[in-house]
Amino acid sequence: MSFDNTSMNDRAGVSVYSDPDAIPEYGRRWSWMEVDLDAIAHNIREYRKLVGDSVKVLAVVKANAYGHGAVRVSRCALASGASYLGVATVDEGIDLRKADIDAPILLLSEPPEDSIPLLLRYRIMPSVYTRHFADAYSRYADLFGVKGYYHLAINSGMNRIGVPYNEVVGFVRQLHNDGSLELAGVFTHFATADEKETSDFSVQEKRFIDAITDLQNAGFETGLVHAANTAAGIRFPNVRFDMVRFGISMYGLHASEQTKGLIDLRPAMSIHARITNVQTIDPGEGVSYGFAFRSNHGSVICTLPIGYADGLPRVLSNRMEVIMDGKKHHQVGSICMDQCMFEVDDGGRRLSPDEYPEIGDEVVIVGSQGDCCIALDDLAETAGTINYEIACGFDSRVPKIYPLSVE
Ligand SMILES: *Cc1c(COP(=O)(O)O)cnc(C)c1O
Repeated sequence: MSFDNTSMNDRAGVSVYSDPDAIPEYGRRWSWMEVDLDAIAHNIREYRKLVGDSVKVLAVVKANAYGHGAVRVSRCALASGASYLGVATVDEGIDLRKADIDAPILLLSEPPEDSIPLLLRYRIMPSVYTRHFADAYSRYADLFGVKGYYHLAINSGMNRIGVPYNEVVGFVRQLHNDGSLELAGVFTHFATADEKETSDFSVQEKRFIDAITDLQNAGFETGLVHAANTAAGIRFPNVRFDMVRFGISMYGLHASEQTKGLIDLRPAMSIHARITNVQTIDPGEGVSYGFAFRSNHGSVICTLPIGYADGLPRVLSNRMEVIMDGKKHHQVGSICMDQCMFEVDDGGRRLSPDEYPEIGDEVVIVGSQGDCCIALDDLAETAGTINYEIACGFDSRVPKIYPLSVE
């Protein structure tokens, strides 16, 4: 196949790349995520203002930074006032080190013992809460002649991970005899920090404080004490301790109704697409699999190249809207794996030529255009889930663009 660059340019009016592999992602598929790093920097500064200078901020960048891109978000977070990073998997930590990120990295659970040499090579601190893992960690640290830094996870009531709150002294005493391990921090995690009712939260808070006191009374240096996720850190100054773990709010999303009004957050993620097909259909015609939508008076149907494999939950079929020309339009028909359709409702009259949508017109799926806004929270609410899950879902396939970044 040969590329005649001049004639391609003439015919299609598009920019021509002499190397087809250099064609950027937005030239390959018309759907994308924009990540506003300025918003992330703003959210961290707001959080910093709230917690004060004596409290460190750990930026939680697990799950590819809740879908926003872990390397870019980590660099932005560290430049804006965070000093620690939190990941969920060994590979997430390795990716950050390979991008030359040097900040301390905490793995928020215990990985398989087989991965311990990687933890040591890439300076990823594990959370520790079982004897078995701790023993293996200390053996490898000995073998490599390095210190095995770790954070002790305490189970104060969530019953997910952690040493039971009333057994921490015995646990740490056993590890402490082993010179190759070094306690860098002690933490717990709250199950109900985002709930209106706070009595369960208070029980966990008290158990954690008792456990820390026990450790200190037994003569142990605890390292960094931390407990608060977004909701706890924003709502309850008492549990900020030495460090707060800042996840969902860094991305500009609220953990629940309870944090709204307490901090000024700017959402960082928006989702966009361009129309790939436009057609006028007759009354009674169906749209998409199963004809879950039929047009009653005939309408203009536009197709977008984004579907449930891109993170747009299929359960939103016929229940969500998109924004075009600063106005909301109903998505219609079942959301497909890679595409979905929306209707420009003409109310039975003909659209005027300048109302008529065209292939290539930009549509906002999450975000704002003019005065119109569709929040990730709106999608989450309709889908019956939380904004965390919707954000993570968009990580799967659409390319990420960082429009305001000056790296
Ligand atoms: C995910 C996670 C966080 C962050 O929670 P947000 O509600 O997103 O702020 C904090 N701590 C631990 C242990 C986590 O797993």
